Amino acid sequence: GHPRPPAEPLAPHDVFIAVKTTKKFHRARLDLLLETWISRHKEMTFIFTDGEDEVLARRTGNVVNTNCSAAHSRQALSCKMAVEYDRFIDSGRKWFCHVDDDNYVNVRALLRLLASYPHTQDVYIGKPSLDRPIQATERVSENKMRPVHFWFATGGAGFCISRGLALKMSPWASGGHFMSTAERIRLPDDCTIGYIVEALLGVPLIRSGLFHSHLENLQQVPASELHEQVTLSYGTFENKRNAVHVKGPFSVEADPSRFRSVHCHLYPDTPWCPRTAIF
Ligand code: UDP
Ligand code: MN
Repeated sequence: GHPRPPAEPLAPHDVFIAVKTTKKFHRARLDLLLETWISRHKEMTFIFTDGEDEVLARRTGNVVNTNCSAAHSRQALSCKMAVEYDRFIDSGRKWFCHVDDDNYVNVRALLRLLASYPHTQDVYIGKPSLDRPIQATERVSENKMRPVHFWFATGGAGFCISRGLALKMSPWASGGHFMSTAERIRLPDDCTIGYIVEALLGVPLIRSGLFHSHLENLQQVPASELHEQVTLSYGTFENKRNAVHVKGPFSVEADPSRFRSVHCHLYPDTPWCPRTAIF
C-alpha cells in the first residue's frame, strides 16, 4: 500500500519482538538469527524456548524458558504464546510482535510500519494465512456450541499487536486464560489470537503484504523490494525448497535460507559481509 505518515516516532525500546523456538532448533535455526538480524537488535528481541541452553544464554541475555512442553502440540504452542503475551504486558512496551525461528525480521521496515499507527489504538497487523475467514466452533458453555468465523494473521509470517489492543485482550489472554481460550475453539495459538481480537473484541485484522511465511512462494518477493519487507522466511512449500531469491554474496549451498545474503544486502557494513558492496 501507500506509505503512511508516521503517527509517532519509535525507539528500539518501544517494541517487543518475541521469537518462538524449541530446544532442538537452538543450533539449527536460532544461531543463524543471532548472527543476522538479532545481532543488530538485541534490546528488542526475546527468545521463548522450552529448555535450558548455556550456549544460547551466553549469546543473549533475553532468553525466556517458558517451562512449556517441547511437543509440537496445540497446548504446548499456546503455552508459549501465553508466556509471550504476559512478558510483553510486563515489559510496558508499545508494540508486541511475534515471529517464528525461521523468520528474518527487517527491523527498520518494522519500525517504519509500526510508527504509522498509534500504539494506543486497536492495531492487529499481519498476513492472513487463508483467503477467507476461518470457520470454527466455539464452546460457549458445557454443552452449547456455536459457529464463529474470523480472520487471523499466520504466526509463521509474524504479526504485531498494539499495547492498546493487547490490554483489551487481557481477560482472554493473560495468566492462564490464553490456554483456556485456545481450548474453547481447539485451534492453534495464532488462530486463538485472531479469535480474541476479531471474534471477541470486534477489531479487524489489518492485512499487510510485507509479512512473509514459507507457506507462500518466496521467490516472488522482488529482490529490489527487500528493504521494504517486514519479515521473510524459508522452508518448504509444495514439497520444494522455498527461500527468497537474492543474488550473492553467499551461494545457495553456503546460505540455503538466504538470510546471510539478505542481511549483507540490508546491513553491508557487517564485519563478515564481503566489503565490495560499500562505497
Ligand atoms: N516449534 C515449537 N515446538 C515444537 C516445534 C516447533 O515451539 O515442538 C516452533 C518452531 O521453533 C517455530 C514454530 O514452532 O518457531 C513453527 O515450527 P516449524 O517452522 O517447524 O513448523 P511450521 O508450522 O512452519 O511447518
Ligand atoms: Mn516454519
